[in-house]
Amino acid sequence: MNRDRYWEITRSDWYGIAQVLFAFIAVIMISSFFLLPDYWYLWLTIITGGLVLLVVWHAKNFTYLCPGCGEVFEVSTLEDFISPNGVNKKYLRCPRCGKRAWADILRIKEETILKK
Ligand SMILES: [Zn+2]
Repeated sequence: MNRDRYWEITRSDWYGIAQVLFAFIAVIMISSFFLLPDYWYLWLTIITGGLVLLVVWHAKNFTYLCPGCGEVFEVSTLEDFISPNGVNKKYLRCPRCGKRAWADILRIKEETILKK
């Protein structure tokens, strides 16, 4: 595993993840309050858009470590969305050894969470 490119998720990463999730939940709650039930189609658009952004952000910023062979691999946005998630693990098929396992989530170093 290349330590220059990836790292294990740190406390500040968790803080960043919590902020993103909190912002998303806040958007859902506020938009529900103002838009439902009259503008449900607009509300649905906002929620869907937010969810897509969240998954794209996650797929771009995180990568996975195979517990079997140590391969570090990235997944597509779609795969990121549909595969089961643990707290800091994800159930994926490793592209190198072909085994399905709970892969550790790693941060990609180049990207920074919600950098302003
Ligand atoms: Zn593997």
